[in-house]
Amino acid sequence: MSAQIIDGKAFAASVRAKVGDAVAAMKADHDITPGLAVVLVGEDPASEVYVRNKGRQTLEAGMKSFEHKLPADTSEADLLALVARLNADRSVHGILVQLPLPAHMNEDLVVNAIDPAKDVDGFHISNVGRLATGQSAMVPCTPLGCLMMLRDHLGSLSGLNAVVVGRSNIVGKPMAQLLLRDSCTVTIAHSRTKNIEALCRNADIVVAAVGRPEMISDDWIKPGATVIDVGINRIDAPEKGEGKTRLVGDVDFQSVSQVAGAITPVPGGVGPMTIACLLANTVTACARANGLNAPEGLTA
Ligand code: NDP
Repeated sequence: MSAQIIDGKAFAASVRAKVGDAVAAMKADHDITPGLAVVLVGEDPASEVYVRNKGRQTLEAGMKSFEHKLPADTSEADLLALVARLNADRSVHGILVQLPLPAHMNEDLVVNAIDPAKDVDGFHISNVGRLATGQSAMVPCTPLGCLMMLRDHLGSLSGLNAVVVGRSNIVGKPMAQLLLRDSCTVTIAHSRTKNIEALCRNADIVVAAVGRPEMISDDWIKPGATVIDVGINRIDAPEKGEGKTRLVGDVDFQSVSQVAGAITPVPGGVGPMTIACLLANTVTACARANGLNAPEGLTA
């Protein structure tokens, strides 16, 4: 069997188009323009690329983008003061503080200082609790993107066996909560899990969020299962020339795509969905802040 490829790039483009339509409608009907503020502390090159991409895509969707770049030696008090200003700023509907923060800052303290209604990353303890208790919440972007692709591919997820490999706060745990909310039977696997291959072999859905290149191979996968690969790993690629590298996921795409029913590739799967869902969360936050219904198809 050869798996259907779930094209995250095309799906992300469709999410961005929906966001663009929702933004245009908010402007036309209510004279409101959603605004996203992104805060970057320090000069981590990877974070700078992410922040640049976020800003560009925010503007392309017709929203306002506010970028705040602070030096690495900014004090925690100054960062908290900026967060407080953004919380009070009515033109800002979403606030994202790019992680990781420099070592002298307490990330939990900073994240929990963001107004939960503007917490478009969904990391605030109040949003984590709301998601866990089935209340309307801001949902972390990467798991939200995975859920959208699963619903699009499978329709109802009710009653399906799902295994999430990885228990991080930003991917594994919220992914498991979202699948549970959609009535899957959910198992969370991690580095201490016994018989992990057998657990995965019993699953209709496997979501891999581990950070280990090509760890999951075809003998872990039930024929016809849907496999979502969140992992992004850079490995040496001598076949491309000396010193060259390439990106791979946590799933061995070559072998698993022979067994699975559907699979997301790396790159071009989950990755593009993350920023698209950040834009979706910003529109949702803006709608809720103004007493409007969140646009259809952009929330969990
Ligand atoms: P973390 O390092 O925070 O978590 C990794 C998880 O994998 C941990 O729970 C760990 O278990 C588990 N794990 C590690 N080794 C094994 C193993 N051998 N068997 C089973 N479980 C194991 O990573 P993240 O959740 O932040 O990210 C996971 C991957 O997803 C990374 O490759 C990252 O780059 C990528 N990513 C991609 C995004 C995207 O936009 N596509 C966004 C975010 C992340 P334990 O808790 O026991 O240590």
